[in-house]
Amino acid sequence: MVLKVLLVNPPRFEGISVIREERCEITERYSILEPYSLLQTAALLRDGGHQVSLIDLNGQDLGYDALEARAREFHPDATLYRFTPTTFDWDHKAASTVKGVDKDITTVGVCWTLHTMPNQVLKEAPDLDVYVRQDYEVVAPAAVNALAGGTPLDDVAGIAYRRGEEIKVTGPPTPMKDYDSMPIPAYDLLPSLKPYYVNAPAGRPFTILYTSKGCPFKCSFCTVAGTPWKMRTAPHILEELRYLKERYGLRTASFFDETFTFNRGRVEEICRMLKEEDLKIKWYCNTRAHLVDRELLRQMREAGCRGISFGIESGSQRILDSVEKKVKVEQNRDAVLAAKAERLKVLCSFIFGLPGEDWDSVEETLQFVRDTLPTSAQFNVAVPYPGTRLHEQIYGVTGLEEPDFRKMYQHASVVGTEKMTPEDLDEARKKAYKTLYTSGRWWLSNIRHLLREPSDLYMASRFAMKITNNYVFHGMKDAH
Ligand code: SF4
Repeated sequence: MVLKVLLVNPPRFEGISVIREERCEITERYSILEPYSLLQTAALLRDGGHQVSLIDLNGQDLGYDALEARAREFHPDATLYRFTPTTFDWDHKAASTVKGVDKDITTVGVCWTLHTMPNQVLKEAPDLDVYVRQDYEVVAPAAVNALAGGTPLDDVAGIAYRRGEEIKVTGPPTPMKDYDSMPIPAYDLLPSLKPYYVNAPAGRPFTILYTSKGCPFKCSFCTVAGTPWKMRTAPHILEELRYLKERYGLRTASFFDETFTFNRGRVEEICRMLKEEDLKIKWYCNTRAHLVDRELLRQMREAGCRGISFGIESGSQRILDSVEKKVKVEQNRDAVLAAKAERLKVLCSFIFGLPGEDWDSVEETLQFVRDTLPTSAQFNVAVPYPGTRLHEQIYGVTGLEEPDFRKMYQHASVVGTEKMTPEDLDEARKKAYKTLYTSGRWWLSNIRHLLREPSDLYMASRFAMKITNNYVFHGMKDAH
């Protein structure tokens, strides 16, 4: 049987844009991203013969009334939406909205961050029928196929669902091995790419995309630590970029992978093909500092890379070791300086409040910032997400009462360290932003970059407006 499935990215939360993508399930005031995983899921379902419709309420800045109208018009058999911890109750209004149209519509919700607490999710979201906990690329189509075929949901790995009053949780799924088997995401289901950008509204048309997924490293605070790494080959990535160029005139892409440069040979091949085809797409990526060097960064720059984001976390070796980051402070420093030397913009992210944090280690982080002057930086506080080793260390051993996951923001501490209170950590975060934004050397360094890269002027001016606005009016909340 063919199922009619309505895919939904819920609306913005209290007017703030929300990113609902696996490791990144957060509110983000200054980025509006395509609901990429929903576009992938829609393409997979369509390839499986199902009839799909998609509404991106966040991207188009629409409310639940638009969802209700679409549900009345499309009459889905099932609705599939994503939700996040801090926007939990708000996102589940997607389920109650479609149930209000027809209570027989099956509701399927996808969220990675809460995958270790399926019982609580289903208990606290009464209109959610099926929770896709992980590996949505294989689990969501399997769940829809089971609903279509009337086969037992018990046979679908990676979900939790209701059977009468009971909550059933199935075992782990087999992750997708051949990531090249993914179809091009169903971009055609979006009215346009106009609303989307990252950090500052410039360089559009823009999209995010995954060229690989997962991360075998074991950083204790990270929700995707130790997940299998799967990758697309260069020709498969180029196929998507070519399509985006031809159909939408794409100018900027952000490779949303956790560790884009994990496999050096693959990155070199991507760069070689991008240079050969000269698609004129500028791109950005995230990776770990010890997985780049000057030569690789040069190749990336020549292939259109204009910015790179490193998870630096701390300027203190003691803190890096305490979370098993497996990197040296010097490696982090060298990578930032090498990327800047190759005229790449460098975004560094830091976390205050990892085990052992005290004012001395905070100062080491501030010194790292002064020494390297990254083009921009995010200063977050540690969040003990469920399922991480950090969570286990804090709540498994100390017996502290766990905070409500709805309060787990990266801009406001819910827990301190032995030497620092949550208030101290929030203070450290503010101090770090002040250190960067009031540094004359930092402004000079960025002006020097602009003199060498005048094409960045428009983006830089929008970015400067963003940080001023956020620093002055919002206390750097909901901006990562
Ligand atoms: S390297 Fe990055 S993505 Fe991988 S486990 Fe560490 S923090 Fe997470």
